[in-house]
Amino acid sequence: MTVAEPVTRVAFIGLGHMGGHMCRNVITAGFEVTAYDLDEEALGRAAAAGARAAVSVADCVRGAEILLTSLPGPPQVEAVLCGAGGGESAIAAMSPGSIVVDMSTSSLEVGRRARAAADAAGVQLLDAPVAGQTIGAEAGTLAIYAGGESEAFARALPVLEAMGDPQRIFLLGPGGAGYAVKLLLNLTWFIQAVATAEALTIGVKAGVDLSNLHTALVASPANSVFLERDVLPLLERGDYDDGFAMKLVTKDLGLAVDLARDVGVPVELSAVVEQIHRRARSVYGDDAGEMSAVRLYEDLAGLELRWHT
Ligand code: NAD
Repeated sequence: MTVAEPVTRVAFIGLGHMGGHMCRNVITAGFEVTAYDLDEEALGRAAAAGARAAVSVADCVRGAEILLTSLPGPPQVEAVLCGAGGGESAIAAMSPGSIVVDMSTSSLEVGRRARAAADAAGVQLLDAPVAGQTIGAEAGTLAIYAGGESEAFARALPVLEAMGDPQRIFLLGPGGAGYAVKLLLNLTWFIQAVATAEALTIGVKAGVDLSNLHTALVASPANSVFLERDVLPLLERGDYDDGFAMKLVTKDLGLAVDLARDVGVPVELSAVVEQIHRRARSVYGDDAGEMSAVRLYEDLAGLELRWHT
């Protein structure tokens, strides 16, 4: 059996809030990176960080041993990987034996279509969405949830380790397992966001000091990472976290509810929570921060959830 050479030539498509940092970390780790994005400013930043700037999808992947994608969601993933909508297909332009790693939060359905295209082209495919917010992308400490074959995962691992925390890079099962886990993680977190917003708003309206309420809840069985850590920038300084836009939050929640439907699990709570975040998006806008559902409760109750107000 021949042992595959370590990969050195990387293509990176999708250089937004997450991908921009991830691409830079791959360059810093010493890989030879060619980058592409529809947004010329984002592409310019990658070039300044040391990437070769490609002029198209096919130009980007030519000669690459591994392609990483960090795209908004299923339509863009299918467009880039399969050429859906009439554009160039990255998979069709790649050499047999190369690997595609989609790090977007996307759907199992598009993943299956990409897999069929990859099989036809002799290309290996991993789904490997991430968690850890833009701060984790910048620091190179993302958690990565992979699905696919173990041999492809092993070859991709040195590149994944340039972007993620080695202790939290998981191979979870066959193709689609990574997307599923990521969608369920986000679903649970955004349920907690609404539950926390309701509890804090009720408590403050009932006359309990926010700081005392928070301290007591953190020390109780009702604690969560959301309550103890993630909501603090909002409580401290009204930061609703623009790094993850509501258009992507509602995309993820829709995909999670779709997944539940596809596997035949009724999810009344998830469906209501999805609608609450959709309302927040419609009130505050597509690009409003991921904590906008909390703001919805603040506005409904006529208060601000801040330590010192
Ligand atoms: P973003 O919208 O900031 O970036 C996406 C980038 O893809 C943009 O630069 C856009 O120009 C580019 N793009 C779109 N279509 C393209 C195409 N056809 N060809 C080339 N480039 C194209 O999104 P983001 O916040 O960086 O998120 C990327 C992915 O990571 C999403 O799937 C998101 O759900 C997921 N994610 C985001 C966060 C976060 O905190 N922002 C956290 C975890 C996971």
